Amino acid sequence: MASHPPGQLSDKALSEVIGTLEQAEQHHRNWLHDLHASMICGRPFDDAVFPADAHCRCRFGRWYYHNEHQVLRDDPEYQALDTQHKAMHDCARKLAGVIADGQIIAEADYRGFVDCQQRFSQTLLTLRDQLKECLHSFDALTGVMTRSPFMKHLTMEQARSTRNGEASTVALIDIDHFKQVNDTHGHLVGDRVLQSFAQYLLRSLRAYDSVCRYGGEEFVVCLPQTTLASSVTVMERMRRELADLTIQPDGGPALRITVSVGLAELRPELPPDGTLELADGALYRAKAHGRNRVMVHVNTADER
Ligand code: GH3
Ligand code: MG
Ligand code: MG
Repeated sequence: MASHPPGQLSDKALSEVIGTLEQAEQHHRNWLHDLHASMICGRPFDDAVFPADAHCRCRFGRWYYHNEHQVLRDDPEYQALDTQHKAMHDCARKLAGVIADGQIIAEADYRGFVDCQQRFSQTLLTLRDQLKECLHSFDALTGVMTRSPFMKHLTMEQARSTRNGEASTVALIDIDHFKQVNDTHGHLVGDRVLQSFAQYLLRSLRAYDSVCRYGGEEFVVCLPQTTLASSVTVMERMRRELADLTIQPDGGPALRITVSVGLAELRPELPPDGTLELADGALYRAKAHGRNRVMVHVNTADER
C-alpha cells in the first residue's frame, strides 16, 4: 500500500478507514466472546449468527461491501479480508448449528474456526498498519512522498544497491526563481505550478524511480540502478524538456519554468542524508553558474 500512487486517499479518508478497521477488530473480538459464552455457557446465540449472509450484515460487512475507495479495493490485504471474514462467519454458523442441535463441536471444527478468526484479525491489523504508514507519507499539495518516508526509502535503496553492487543516484531539483512566479501571478498559481511540476516528474521518470517534495519548491528524485553518468543524461533531458514546456495551470497564465539540478551517487559508506548534502552542494553550484543546469558531485574535487 505504501507504494501506491499517492493522492488517491486523502489523509481524512485514510484516518476514517483506519478507525473503521480498528473498530472491526474490536467488534469481532467482542462477537467472539459472545459466541464463546453461547457455545460454552449455554447463553442463547445472537440471531445474527445464523443467516447465510451474516458476513454481509455485520457492521464491518456493511462497510466492506459498500466501500468505494478503489485504491483499497485493489489492495491484496483488503481483498483477502473478503474470504477470511466470510469463512469466519461461516464457521461460526456451523458451530452454532451443532450446539443448537444439542451436539458437541468436533475439536477440528473448533480449531478451524479459531484459525479463521485469527487470520482475519491479523489481516485487519496488517492493513491498518500499512494505512497508518501511508498517513502523512504523501504531500497534500503535490501528492508525492514527504521527506520522512523518502529518507527511509533512501536507506533501503542504499542497502539494496550496496548488496547488488549497483549504482544509484539522487537528484536534488530546485525550481529557478520560483519566488517570482508567486510574486507575479500569486500564490495560488504558484501552487498549481508545483502540482504540475510534480505530475511532470512522475510522468517522465521510470515507475521505480521515486519522487519526494523535499520542501517548498525543492524536490528529490532517487534513480535506482542508475550510474551518475546515466543520471546526467536523464536529468539533462528532463531539464531541456521542461525549459521548452508551457505550463498553463487551470487555464490561467501560460508559464515556463526552469530547474537547477544537483546529482550525487548513493554510496555504501555515506548515509543518505550525507548524499543529499553532496547533491545540495552540486545544486548550489548549478545556481551559482546561472541556473537551468545539471551539476554533479563527483568523488574527486572535480565537478561538472
Ligand atoms: P532560486 O532560483 O535561487 O531557487 O530562487 P527561488 O525564488 O526559487 O528561491 P527562494 O528560496 O528565494 O524562494 C522560494 C519560493 O518558493 C518562496 C516561497 O514562498 C515559495 N514556496 C515554497 N513553498 C511553496 C508553496 O507550497 N506554494 C507556493 N505557491 N510557493 C511556495
Ligand atoms: Mg528555487
Ligand atoms: Mg529552494
